[in-house]
Amino acid sequence: MMLRDCYRSTFPLPLSTLVSVKMAQPNERIPPRVPRNIALSRLNIFSSPDSEWRELGLTAQLWRHRVDSDEFIRLESFSVPDLKRIPFEQAVLNKFTPVKKGWSFGPSWSTHWFHVHIIIPSGWIGEEVQLQWDANCEGLIFSTDGEPLQGLTGGNSQARHEFTITHLALPGQKFEYYIEMAANGMFGVGGTGMVPDPNRRFTLQTADLVVANKKAWALYHDFELIRNFIFNTPENTQRQHEALYAANEIVNVFKPGDDKSIEKGLRIAAEWLSKTGGEGQHHIIAIGNCHIDTAWLWPFAETKRKVARSWSSQVRLMERYPEYKFACSQVQQYEFLLENYPVLFEKVKERVRSGQFIPIGGSWVESDTNMPSGEALIRQMLLGQRFYEKHFGKRVKTYWLPDSFGYSGQLPQILKASGIDYFFTQKLSWNNINRFPLTTFYWRGIDGSKVLAHLSPANTYCADVRPHELQACINNNNDLDYTNESLLLFGYGDGGGGPNAEMLERLERLRNVDGLPTVKSGDPTEFFERIEKYSKPLSSYRGELYAEFHRGTYTTQALVKRGNRKNELLLRDVELLGTLASQRDPKGYCYPKKQLERMWKIVCLNQFHDCLPGSSIGMVYEDIHKSQRELAAEAFSLRHEALGKVLGLTGTQSLDEKRVVVFNTLAWDRTEIIKVPVEDGMPQLQQYSAVENAGYVLADNVSALGQTSYMFDRKIDVEPVTVETTHKGDFVLRNQYLEVIFDNKGHLISLFDRAQGRELVPEGRRGNVFQLYEDIPTGWDGNCKIIPQSIVS
Ligand SMILES: [Zn+2]
Repeated sequence: MMLRDCYRSTFPLPLSTLVSVKMAQPNERIPPRVPRNIALSRLNIFSSPDSEWRELGLTAQLWRHRVDSDEFIRLESFSVPDLKRIPFEQAVLNKFTPVKKGWSFGPSWSTHWFHVHIIIPSGWIGEEVQLQWDANCEGLIFSTDGEPLQGLTGGNSQARHEFTITHLALPGQKFEYYIEMAANGMFGVGGTGMVPDPNRRFTLQTADLVVANKKAWALYHDFELIRNFIFNTPENTQRQHEALYAANEIVNVFKPGDDKSIEKGLRIAAEWLSKTGGEGQHHIIAIGNCHIDTAWLWPFAETKRKVARSWSSQVRLMERYPEYKFACSQVQQYEFLLENYPVLFEKVKERVRSGQFIPIGGSWVESDTNMPSGEALIRQMLLGQRFYEKHFGKRVKTYWLPDSFGYSGQLPQILKASGIDYFFTQKLSWNNINRFPLTTFYWRGIDGSKVLAHLSPANTYCADVRPHELQACINNNNDLDYTNESLLLFGYGDGGGGPNAEMLERLERLRNVDGLPTVKSGDPTEFFERIEKYSKPLSSYRGELYAEFHRGTYTTQALVKRGNRKNELLLRDVELLGTLASQRDPKGYCYPKKQLERMWKIVCLNQFHDCLPGSSIGMVYEDIHKSQRELAAEAFSLRHEALGKVLGLTGTQSLDEKRVVVFNTLAWDRTEIIKVPVEDGMPQLQQYSAVENAGYVLADNVSALGQTSYMFDRKIDVEPVTVETTHKGDFVLRNQYLEVIFDNKGHLISLFDRAQGRELVPEGRRGNVFQLYEDIPTGWDGNCKIIPQSIVS
C-alpha cells in the first residue's frame, strides 16, 4: 500500500495527506520527501490523546493493564450533610454505603468521602500499580490512619489522576484508602465568566487500577519534547531540521502493540537529545510552585484543603525526584497546614531541611500592595518572617508576588528592613498598554532603598516545562546584555496543584539540549545571589511598579476596603494605648499580645491579592465582611479597656459630669469635632443630635500622642454655621472657612474658600458631579478588569 511504503509504518494519515504524499512521490522505490506541513500535521496526530487515529498512535500504548471490577476495587461512600467540611477523624466514624464507578454527587461545595478497598490482580505480580481516579473535581487521598498522601485533580485541565499504590506488587496484596472528594474544580464551580454555579454535580468517571507501559511513557515524553522544539524554535535551523527528521522517524518505526518499535523510537530520540549546547547558552533555573490563591473563586475554607492536596502531591514527587525543588510562599498557608494537617506539616518540615521544599516570600500572604497601609505591609513581613524563623529556623531573603496587581513604591524600604534583598514577579508582563522595559534590575523605593528584582521572561508562574517556555526566556528578556540567567516558575496554579511527574520528566530531558537554554532545578534565592555577584552593572527603576491590567481595583468592593482601613487604624490604637496602659498600670493591665497577633493575621489575610482588590466571588466577601465586623468589635473593646487605664478610669467610674477627656493617638497635634454620649445631668452641649442621642464638642490643639480635657459648657470660639435661602431659591451654607451654594435642584454651584478668598467652582459650572461610565470587562466577571476606553469616554 502506498501509504505504508512512503512512511514504512502502519501509522495512518487522513485522506488529504495521502493524496499529497502520493503526488509528491518521485520514485516508487525511494521514500519521498514529505512536505513540511504534512509532516508537522502527522506528528501532532501521533501523540494526540483526542485524535480520531488515537488507537493507532502512541497515547493508546501508555497503559498496559486496566481493571475496574468489584473483584479488584470496591467503593463505599459517605456524603457530608449541609456543605460541611469535616476532618478525617470525624468522617471515618460515619456509615459508608456501597457505590460504583459512574456514581454522581453534588451540589457545589459539598464533600463526599470514599472508602476504597483494593486487591491486586494475580497476574500483576512485580508490577508498579496505580489507582486512576477522575471525578472531574478535587480530592485528597488519606491512609487509613489519617495521613494525607496525595491530591487528585479530575477533568482534562491541570489533571492529576494517578496515585501509585505500589512499586512492586506482591501476591494477594490488599490496600485500603480514604478519599475526600470536594464538589468543586481547581477553579471553583464557575461556568461561563467564572460565575459560581451552586448546583454543579460531579460523576466518578474513572476508578480503575492500571499498570503503565513505562517505555511508551518514556517515548511519549521524548517525542513531545522534540515535537514542541520543532514548533517553537526559530525556523530553518540545522537543529530544527534534525528534530523534524527524528520525530518523523519515530513515527515511521512505530507499530501499535509492539514494544520493540517503541525501543527503536527511544533510540532515535536519545540520539537527537544527546547533542548538548555550548557554554555560552542562556541558563534557566526552574523552580516548581503551585500558586494557591488564598481565596478567589473559592472560600478560605476550601484553600485549607487545597494546601493539603497540593503540598502532599509535591512531597510525594520529591520522594521520586530527589533533585526536584519546590518554592512556596504565603505563610498563612503554612499555618493552615500546621493547624489542620500536622502530620503533613512535619513531612514538609523534613523536606525544608533537605532543601527541596523552599519557603519563600516572607509575607503572611501574597497581598495586594496598593491599598494596605505601610504599617500593614510591615506586619505582613513581621508575621511571616517570625513564623519562618520559629518553624524553619531562618528568615527568607526573597519577596515573592507573582500575581499581585502592582507594587507600591514604599516596598523596597520595607523589604530591606525585613531582611529581604530580592524581589520576584512576572505580573508586569500582563501589561496591555506599555511593555515594561526591564527584566533583571534594581528596584529603588521612594527613599532610595533598593532590592534586586527579576521579572520572569517566561511571562507566567504556571509553566509546564516545554521548549517554547525556555525559548521565551530569551525572546522576552530585556537584559540579556547584562546577565545570562532567568527564572522559570512551573507547575499548575491559581487553584493550587503544582508540578506533575510529566513536567519533571521533561525537566530532566531538557537539562542541556542543543538549540535551547540549559535548565535545572534550583533555589530562587541562590539564583539572585549569583546575579548579584556575576552580572554586569544592572539598570535601576525607581518608584511604583504599576501593573497596567487589572483596573477598578481601588473601587470594587468598597466596603471591604473601608473595613480594612478601619481595622488597620483600630489595631494601631489598641497597640499604642495598650503599651501606655502597661506602663501606667503594670500589675492591673495585661497587654493583649496574643490577641493582637491573631487580629493582625486576620487583617493581613484579608489583604490577599484577590480579596482586598475586589476580584473574588461573593462567598469570599461574606466571610471577609463578617471577620472585619467581629474584629472591629473586639478591637473597640480592647481600645476602651486600654484607654480607661491610660486615663485612670476604673470600671465603676463614669465620665466627669462637666468634662470630656480626649486622647490623640496620632503623632501630630490635632483639632477635631468629638462625638460624646449624652447622659442624664450633662450640661448643655454646643451641638446636639437627637437622632444619635449624642453631643459634639470641639477638641482643639490636642498634642501629639497626648491628652486634654475640656469642659462641656465652655465657650467655643467659632463662627456659628448659618443656612439661608436666597430670593432665587438657592441655599447658602456658611461657616468660618467656607461658603457653599446649592441651587434649588441640589447642584453645587459655588464653593468659596473664605480664608483664601478663592472661588473653586467656575461660573456657570457645577461641582461634585457624579459621572457614570459603562464598565465593559474583558474578563473575570467584570470585577477587576475594565477596558481603558470605558474609563476615558
Ligand atoms: Zn493569584
